[in-house]
Amino acid sequence: MYIYDSTLRDGTQCEGISFTVLDKIKIAKKLDCLGVDYIEAGNPGSNPKDLEFFKEAKKVRFKHAKLTAFGSTRRANVPVLEDKNIQALLDVDTPAVAIFGKVWDFHVTDIIRTTLGENLHMIYDTVEYMKSKDKEVIFDAEHFFDGYEANKEYALKVLKTAVEAGTDWLVLCDTNGGTFPSEIGGTVSYISSLFDVPIGIHCHNDCDMAVANSIIAVENGAVQVQGTFNGYGERCGNANLTTIIPNLQLKQGRRCISEGHMIDLTDVSRYISELANLSHDSHMPYVGNSAFAHKGGMHVDAIIKNPRSFEHIYPELVGNQRRILMSEVAGRSTILSKIQKVAPWVTKYSEETQKVIDRLKQLEYDGYQFEGAESSLELMIIRALGMEKTFFDVKDFKVICEDHWESEYNASAVIKVAVDGVDEITAADGDGPINALDKALRKALEIFYPQLKSIRLTDYKVRVLDTSYATASKVRVHIETTNGKVTWGTVGVSSNIIEASWNALVDSIEYFLYHEDKLNIIQN
Ligand SMILES: [Zn+2]
Repeated sequence: MYIYDSTLRDGTQCEGISFTVLDKIKIAKKLDCLGVDYIEAGNPGSNPKDLEFFKEAKKVRFKHAKLTAFGSTRRANVPVLEDKNIQALLDVDTPAVAIFGKVWDFHVTDIIRTTLGENLHMIYDTVEYMKSKDKEVIFDAEHFFDGYEANKEYALKVLKTAVEAGTDWLVLCDTNGGTFPSEIGGTVSYISSLFDVPIGIHCHNDCDMAVANSIIAVENGAVQVQGTFNGYGERCGNANLTTIIPNLQLKQGRRCISEGHMIDLTDVSRYISELANLSHDSHMPYVGNSAFAHKGGMHVDAIIKNPRSFEHIYPELVGNQRRILMSEVAGRSTILSKIQKVAPWVTKYSEETQKVIDRLKQLEYDGYQFEGAESSLELMIIRALGMEKTFFDVKDFKVICEDHWESEYNASAVIKVAVDGVDEITAADGDGPINALDKALRKALEIFYPQLKSIRLTDYKVRVLDTSYATASKVRVHIETTNGKVTWGTVGVSSNIIEASWNALVDSIEYFLYHEDKLNIIQN
């Protein structure tokens, strides 16, 4: 199998994504390490930022992947040698080029407004010219499936033209994402039988079937799959490679990337979402944070006896991990597995287990919820068992909120902490009271623990628990913190939003200090 990644081209069409040139270089290197075969990284004719990327990319030595530039066929009625976009495609000097051409007759006549005959010439001239320049040519047959349904004869003529001009690949695109697997399978099978040129598949996800469509295309003869990491793309996205790669390789035994790199899949997926500045979808198959998270008590009991009972693969195969979620519906064995992480000697019916269960029930009654906040849960267990370490004492804090017309900050915080008997008083301005507190606390603690500079908040959520008390309601604050690679969640509950936030904040810092070594190992 050949994996053709378009995260840096089609993926950037995704609402909310805007990679810098440096981001794109970093992602390209990651994808190369993972072992994808092609990295389609931009359209140099249409976008100066892409041009700059290709310039920078020349300095990078890719171990495996072929960098690919993307562009359209020559424009109508313009000789190929005079088409600036075609020249730009050559100038970036990539080993492979993807040329997209129109297949759907309606697009030819109504959108680019030329004749069906001229469109064939545009395809022929462009592909032939690229071959004369020694490029590997990937011909993307845009809207292939819609075009094939509307006018089979013309759609086949388009493919034949590209083949006669010497294309190395025919990629069949479901550009509008509206085709069903049943149609894709039969059509790909038929097209593969007509041509000697290898077939690729490029699906969009508008019917939530891009992955299924890609798989069925492979089962019917396609040997190249195009897609993006995390399924990023315009509208509903592209075929998601983080699902397709393990589906093909782990379930069907079709080699996509080297076996040794499958365990990097989750890491690469999260890395890309981090650079995209989009929160990682926790329900994504294989790589999502919830992909192997178990909650129901009976399921958890079974998972602990044998993971195969409720998991379709071992999460470690793709670099993910099993998570046991806490809640009052969880059984005693669920809680025990959490306790044993910090106190391996504790057994199912020992006094300590009961102590933790009682504490958990009380906290849940108070409004705590530890799903997604396993770090606070672990700290709660440590405290319930009397095993806590004191990293710092908070002696006092004050928050002042004011409405300053001229100042960009509207809050300030003063805090007094002690570490090993040494007091430290710091103050900080902030955008709101929580931000001021966070800044003041870090400023004070960084003096004693400079490693805290590597962590930062990535998410802050407030949920009102009992709306009947209006502004006196209890709130639950959930925050997420990261050191770049590993993310951990903590929680705090109070009728005072500052106190709830404070508890979650302190937990996030303590958790880091407890696990610093482990978190850094994962990071490397
Ligand atoms: Zn596309």
